[in-house]
Amino acid sequence: MILLGSTGSIGVNALKIAEQFNLSIDTLVAGRNISLLNEQIKRHNPKRVVVMNEADCSLVDHDSVRSGEMAILEAIEESSSQHVVNALVGFTGFRPTLKALECGKKIALANKESLVVGGSFVDTSNIVPIDSEHFGLWYLNQGNRQINRMVITASGGAFRDWSLDKLASATLVDALKHPNWSMGQKITIDSASMVNKLFELLEARWLFGEGEYDALIETKSLIHALIDYTDGSTTAHFAHADMRLPIAYALMGRVDTPIVDRIDLTRVGNLEFREIDKARYPVWEIKNDLLKNPSRGVIVNAANEAAIQRFIEGNIRFIDISAMILRAYESFHTAPESVEAVFALDQEVRNYVRGLS
Ligand code: NDP
Repeated sequence: MILLGSTGSIGVNALKIAEQFNLSIDTLVAGRNISLLNEQIKRHNPKRVVVMNEADCSLVDHDSVRSGEMAILEAIEESSSQHVVNALVGFTGFRPTLKALECGKKIALANKESLVVGGSFVDTSNIVPIDSEHFGLWYLNQGNRQINRMVITASGGAFRDWSLDKLASATLVDALKHPNWSMGQKITIDSASMVNKLFELLEARWLFGEGEYDALIETKSLIHALIDYTDGSTTAHFAHADMRLPIAYALMGRVDTPIVDRIDLTRVGNLEFREIDKARYPVWEIKNDLLKNPSRGVIVNAANEAAIQRFIEGNIRFIDISAMILRAYESFHTAPESVEAVFALDQEVRNYVRGLS
C-alpha cells in the first residue's frame, strides 16, 4: 500500500495492522517526524519515501526520497500499488485523494476533510472510510432493512464537563486533553469544538447518500453508531475504541481474527447519553443547514483550519474558533461547482478568517 501520513496517529496504527497481516508497504509519506519515519523505513522497507520539507530529505535513510505536495502526487501515480491509505490531516489530503481516484486506485480514507470539502467531486465507490462511526454504520447496515435514521456518537471532547463560563479561558493544553483516547492534535481540537462530529455527519452523507443523520454524546465511547429502522427497532455497534478495527476492515474487507477484546457489559455497568448542546458546541447551530447543503463543507473546513491555526499561535481563544466558523458560514454562500472552485473558495475563506478581529 501507499501510506500517506505514516507518522501520525492513524498511520502508526495502519502499520501495526500491516505488520499483523503481512501487508507490504510500497510508499511512505510523512511530514516532519523524521526519526519515526526512519524507524518505519527500517521495519517496512518501502520502495519510495516522501517528506514535507526538502531540507529533511538528507536526514531520511532511503535512496529514493522526495519532498512536497507534487512529490506525493507523483508517488501515487508512479506506484504500481492499487491501495492508498490517506491518513494526512486537513485540506492537504484532498488533492492526493483526487489523484488516487484519477489513477483508479482504492482508498482507505481517514482524511475525512477530503469528503467534507469536495464530496461531490469524489467517487465514493472506490473509498472505504477509516472512521469508527462510519465503520459502525456500515457494520450495522448489512441487512436489507428499511432505514429511518443513522446516528453516530461523540465523546463530547475535552470540555464536555466544563462549566460554560470557564470555556472562555480554555487553553490549547486543555483542548488536547481528550477524555477517552489519544489522537492527532487537529482532530482532538475538532472533538472539543464538535466540528469533528459535524464533519463526520457530512462524511456519512457522502458515503451513504441522502437520508436522516444525527449525532449524540455517549460518554464512554463504547457505542460508535446506531441505526433506527422504520419498524421502530434500533441497533447499536459496540466495540472498544481502537482504530485498528476500522483500519483492518478498510485494508482487508473482511476480518476473522481478533483485533480488539470484546466488551464485558457487566463491567461497563451503565452508559450515559447526552444531547449535543448548542450553548457548549455553537457549531451545532449549522448542522441541519450543512446537511441540506453539503457542498458548503469547504467553507466550514477552511474557517476551522484557519481559526485553529490562530488558536495554536495564541492569537485567539478556543471559543473564537466556533464563532469564526459561524461568521464565515454567514458570509460565504457559494457552493463550489468545480474542483478549482473548491480550491479558490478555500483560500478566500482562509483569508477572511485570518483577517477577523
Ligand atoms: P496526525 O496529526 O497524528 O497525523 C497526520 C500525518 O500527516 C502525520 O504523519 C504528519 O506527519 C503527516 N502530514 C501532515 N502534513 C503533511 C504534509 N504537508 N506532507 C506530508 N505529510 C504530512 O493526525 P491523525 O492521524 O490523528 O489524523 C489523520 C486523519 O485521520 C485526519 O483527517 C483525522 O480527522 C482522521 N481520523 C483520525 C482518527 C484518530 O484516531 N487519530 C480517527 C478517525 C479519523 P508528521 O507527524 O511526521 O509531521
